[in-house]
Amino acid sequence: MSQKRRILVAGNWKMNGSKESAKSLIEGIKAGLDRVKTTEMAICPPFIYIPTVAAMLEGTTIALGAQNLAKEDPGAFTGEVAAPMLKDFGCTYVIVGHSERRAYYGETDALVAQKFVRAQQEGLVPIVCVGELLEEREAGKMEQVVARQIDAVLSAAGASALENAVIAYEPVWAIGTGKTATPDQAQEVHAFIRARIADKDAGIAEKVRIQYGGSVNAGNAAELFAMPDIDGGLIGGAALKIEDFLTICAAG
Ligand code: PEP
Repeated sequence: MSQKRRILVAGNWKMNGSKESAKSLIEGIKAGLDRVKTTEMAICPPFIYIPTVAAMLEGTTIALGAQNLAKEDPGAFTGEVAAPMLKDFGCTYVIVGHSERRAYYGETDALVAQKFVRAQQEGLVPIVCVGELLEEREAGKMEQVVARQIDAVLSAAGASALENAVIAYEPVWAIGTGKTATPDQAQEVHAFIRARIADKDAGIAEKVRIQYGGSVNAGNAAELFAMPDIDGGLIGGAALKIEDFLTICAAG
């Protein structure tokens, strides 16, 4: 068996924080960095705090990410943020297709794929989120839904594009609910996603990092990250707590 990929833990702050809390969170994380030996870390604050966080992360090993981007080039698109602007502030990653964007802002598979492509054109690494609703899982449609979401990206960007991308499997029923998928449940879907990609390109499938997201916390991260196809986590609520986020990062 080949060597496992490097664990990536990304904190998604969602629409939380203030100037003060953003600063103290980053200060606290930086102060505890010696606990994190091998995990790659990223932080995705709300757009408006990106400049503050970018300045504070300078000279550290922690990467910066955004939570969304426009599919358009800069121009007359009120309220949007374009890929070159994220690059301008030093973002490495950008989350695309988070389930909250799909559910509350009507983002379709096609739009998510367009955002994925636009991000890569600018040299950003998309973290593309996929995952089924509880009713889809209960109806036995988990594989069908996840395959459809993955295929939208594969057909828009090609399998080789996944060389510079990350996938986050986030079952919607586990996000912010305190209900985590068991390591075996998550592993099953991660293996399914990797196999789906391997149908197109086995080499890329072996390399692409697939994070798990959905109520990851300080107590469950280690057993999730130990699974063969789980390459880290996309962390919501626990990313807002210094101690918990550091413990999760140290679990990699
Ligand atoms: C997320 O926001 O992507 C997420 C997984 O949230 P939580 O960790 O709070 O479930």
